[in-house]
This record gives sequence, C-alpha cells and structure tokens, in this order.
Amino acid sequence: MSESISDRLQTQKKRLIDAAHRAGRDPEDVTLIAVSKKQSVDAIREAYAAGQRDFGENYVQELVAKAQELAALSDIRWHMIGHLQSNKARLVAGLVHRVHTVSSVKLALELGLRAERASLGHSTLTHSPRGPSPLRVLIEVNVSGEASKSGCTPEEVPKILEAAASQPSIRVTGLMTMPPASEDAREARPYFDCLRELREKWGGPTRLPELSMGMSHDAEEAVAAGATYVRIGSAIFGWRST
Ligand SMILES: *Cc1c(COP(=O)(O)O)cnc(C)c1O
Repeated sequence: MSESISDRLQTQKKRLIDAAHRAGRDPEDVTLIAVSKKQSVDAIREAYAAGQRDFGENYVQELVAKAQELAALSDIRWHMIGHLQSNKARLVAGLVHRVHTVSSVKLALELGLRAERASLGHSTLTHSPRGPSPLRVLIEVNVSGEASKSGCTPEEVPKILEAAASQPSIRVTGLMTMPPASEDAREARPYFDCLRELREKWGGPTRLPELSMGMSHDAEEAVAAGATYVRIGSAIFGWRST
C-alpha cells in the first residue's frame, strides 16, 4: 500500500465521524483504538506522531514489551483487547488504560487485587503505574454463543458486575463484544444491538457508558448501534501475520 499510516488513520477517523453523523451521534463520543497487535513499535510511533493515542493489544507479553519500549510516550493509552488469563492480570493492572476483556468473576477479583497493589506501588513493573485509578474495565460478552469465542454468557454479566463492585480498585465502565466473522458487515449488526440491549438491562449508559465493538470491516454498523470504542487494526496498519 502506498498510503502512509497517517493517511489511513485520517481515513478511519473520518469514517467514524461520518458514521456518527449518520447515526445522529456526537463524533466526540466515539474513540478510535488503533489495534497494533503484531505491528512494530515503529508503526506505533508513526501513528502516535500522527496524533493517535489509543492503541489496542491482544497479547500480554507483547503489550508489556511495547509499553516498556515506548515508555517515553507518556500520554499513550494502552487497551488490553485480547483474552486475559487471571495469572497474567498482575502484568497489565498498573499499565493499561482499559481492560476490555473481563470475562469471569475470577478475573475481576484478581484484577481488583492487582490494581490495588499497583496503586500502592507494589507492582512488578519496572515503571510506575500509568493507568487510571481505579482501573477501568469492560466485560467481554459472547453474545453469539459461538463455542470458539471468548467472553462470558449474557447470563453471567450480573455476577461479574457484582464481583467487580466488591473491588474498590476496579470500575466496570461498559461491555465489549466480537460478532461472528462474516463477509457482510450488516450481519454483525444484530450482535451489536444485542450488546446495547444487554447494557440497558444492567443499568444503561449512566452505569455503563462504554460499548467496545466494531473492527475494520464493520465499524459503521457498530457506530450506528452505539459503539463508543471502535477497534481498528488492518485498515490502519495493513497486513499482519495473524
Ligand atoms: C485484531 C482485533 C481487532 C482488529 O481487527 P481488524 O480486522 O484488523 O480491524 C479488533 N478487536 C479485537 C479483539 C482483535 O483481536
């Protein structure tokens, strides 16, 4: 591709703004997360230089290594968007701006413990905590019920909300989902609507203001359905190995 990362970022931002306008929403309420998994730190630097601040990573080790290498970019915001095992919670607790993938009571409790320790300076990180306090998290819901997908079932949401409420050092700010893979972006829409309806059931936008949904191929559908975080990778950074 001859277009630069900067050009493609502008295109994606414009895409989200247009989608917000069409949906009668304020574009300010939609944040673009540049998904930089499997991309080099140089590619991240390039996006940062073009003004991008929110970056999504899927793998804990990769996230920690990149955050350390880019520690000088002090206002960068890391989003953990991949599956997170409880035993890795301590590695991300003091580091990230959001964890989008809380999918069990166990993980909510572990993040609560680790976020508290990170805020007290007992983190295992080599640098000081840089995420917000309390740590903001979203509950990942498998709305399609596909066996291959991570995320909790819709029925598990209240249990996880309750567990998180027992932890002063974390706060649930919303819900996240990944629809089944499909060629046709319109097929994703019912899953996005389903996540928004689930949010209505558990307190609505006052209690859970954030909806993390939509990727490169279905961003418009997600914004139309109410997304506040859209996670875009390939349309910004191009091809990646997986
Ligand atoms: C990879 C990934 C994305 C970005 O997907 P693209 O199709 O490259 O835009 C978004 N969300 C999650 C959870 C991902 O793993």
